[in-house]
Amino acid sequence: MSFKDVLGHAKPIEFLKRAIKEEKVSHSYLFLGNEGIGKKWTALQFAKALNCLEASAEQWDACDRCISCRKIDHHLHPDVLLIEPEGQTLKVAQVRQMQRDLAYRPYEGRRRFCILAAADRMAPNMSNTLLKTLEEPPLHTVIVLLANNPRLLLPTILSRCQPIRFYPLPIPLVSNWLVEREGLNGEEAHLLAALSEGSPGKALEIREQMRQIPREELLIDLIGLKTIPFEKKESWAECLSSNRDTVVLILEVTKTLLRDLVMMKTLKDGAKLIHSDLRHQMEAIAPKWNLPSLLNRMEALHQTLLAIRGNANIMLSLEAMMLSWAEG
Ligand SMILES: [Zn+2]
Repeated sequence: MSFKDVLGHAKPIEFLKRAIKEEKVSHSYLFLGNEGIGKKWTALQFAKALNCLEASAEQWDACDRCISCRKIDHHLHPDVLLIEPEGQTLKVAQVRQMQRDLAYRPYEGRRRFCILAAADRMAPNMSNTLLKTLEEPPLHTVIVLLANNPRLLLPTILSRCQPIRFYPLPIPLVSNWLVEREGLNGEEAHLLAALSEGSPGKALEIREQMRQIPREELLIDLIGLKTIPFEKKESWAECLSSNRDTVVLILEVTKTLLRDLVMMKTLKDGAKLIHSDLRHQMEAIAPKWNLPSLLNRMEALHQTLLAIRGNANIMLSLEAMMLSWAEG
């Protein structure tokens, strides 16, 4: 892998290549973007390009063959550190170890390179430790922080890093990649690409989970019914309350099913559906609904997703959603 093999993200890559070419590489960068979008991959290619022993002067990219490139690929390069959370959050010991490692000159590379994943998931005392490193960056060192929520980072950290934003990739690009690189069929690839919101890593992550989600049942029994019978409501709430990540995914899927119904009513174009395999079922359900009711349901669902992602009580949030759905 090198810059040219990264899926999408032409602008961030162009920016980094220009920094190498003009010898204006910063001490610290902040790569911002959704989980699984390609930040870590790009950071590793940046480390390779900076340390490559055969980089061609025209391309400012890694050769992918020299000993330095191969060591980085196999996570064996002593000067390229990749720090990822053990569990949910980064641990204090990990950041302290990073500080100790950065105190030395590079062993064999031109630059010591440190990629700190999930930088938005660390305790405040760790942020202060990290800040000290960013304030007095060791020589020959590049630190890349990866994060998806800049609001969780201290303003003082934000101000010390060169921010680079990674935007969601176009759905067809992710979908084609899933077909060509992962061997998925076109329908599954399109569905996963759309649900991942343009994030190839997330598409792969939810692949197994998606096979367990009863999409047709969600469409017919949850969205298709004007009034959901009491027993159904109970069983949905029960099935949904199991695990926060699963609930979020089920609600995201439900949102795209509602979105498809809206498309069906407005454009009457089956080709634009995310769940194109459920087209016939949608054609039967769409006439039962008017557009404002569908949009109200989407809004209520959106609010519920925000609440549950923000750690609200799952059962209460779902009950509130069902109640607002029942109102129209
Ligand atoms: Zn190389």
